[in-house]
Amino acid sequence: MAKLATDGRPLPSPTPTTQAFFDAAKDRRLILPHCPRKGYFFYPRSHCPCCLKQDWDWKPASGRGTVYAFTVDRMGHDPNLMNWVPYVVAAIELEEGPRMTAIIVDCVPEDVRVGMPVEASYEDIDDVTIVRFRLA
Ligand SMILES: [Zn+2]
Repeated sequence: MAKLATDGRPLPSPTPTTQAFFDAAKDRRLILPHCPRKGYFFYPRSHCPCCLKQDWDWKPASGRGTVYAFTVDRMGHDPNLMNWVPYVVAAIELEEGPRMTAIIVDCVPEDVRVGMPVEASYEDIDDVTIVRFRLA
């Protein structure tokens, strides 16, 4: 069962592998796993998904990207998010290459189109900071 915020929303539980990502988000910085041979990847995991080596490191990312695909949750598929519908969930193609799934904030769903430029935004919920995106 997911950890819930005081406002009822589900929260991620940082792990030793992902803690640096959430620490950077708290400082309003986006960082991505970077393999010295294959470059950036996302999501964070113990082994590079291309070469399977573990010597990757974190590198800063611009926080800029474009909407690769999106959907609008109007029904609250997670009952804990019923108070937040409608909201846009998007696959963001980052400038660095990887795609990141995130909620697009500060817009109405009808404003979002595939290919639109977006930039990272950060939301503090209790003691965790979540990476969101907004239209740039
Ligand atoms: Zn690699």
